[in-house]
Amino acid sequence: MKKTHQRFKVMSSGLMINRGNPLLRASPDALVACRCCGKGLLEIKCPYKENLKTTTGEEFAREGKYHLKIGENSTVHLKHTSQWYTQIQAQLAVTQYSWCDFVVFTQKEPHITIERIKYNKIHFEKEYARALNFYDKFVLPKLMEM
Ligand SMILES: [Zn+2]
Repeated sequence: MKKTHQRFKVMSSGLMINRGNPLLRASPDALVACRCCGKGLLEIKCPYKENLKTTTGEEFAREGKYHLKIGENSTVHLKHTSQWYTQIQAQLAVTQYSWCDFVVFTQKEPHITIERIKYNKIHFEKEYARALNFYDKFVLPKLMEM
């Protein structure tokens, strides 16, 4: 990233609270910033179950594993049906950042793949409505019983 962005840096992140709704919170793995793109979030996933030492992120993507798929020019993409994609969209909605660098780390070189994922308002609002529905139907009745 330092080769392709100006003054790229990674900063630690704590718990971030939404300004409009303090119940909405996120803990991104880190924050990133550069002079050319501004500030964004960082989310890192480390596939650990199998073949971590012998398989790259690109190879996982070619097999359709770990929520990954392969795109043009052998770029690695997170599937939009993945819960990781929803997690990233929720983090972006809560923090009001517009993009997140999604990193897959493995122990086989080149070790990491990076995809810059933009905020997808339609996806977030659909999933947020589902979460609210779940809360109303199942969580709230249990809380009222207590
Ligand atoms: Zn940049």
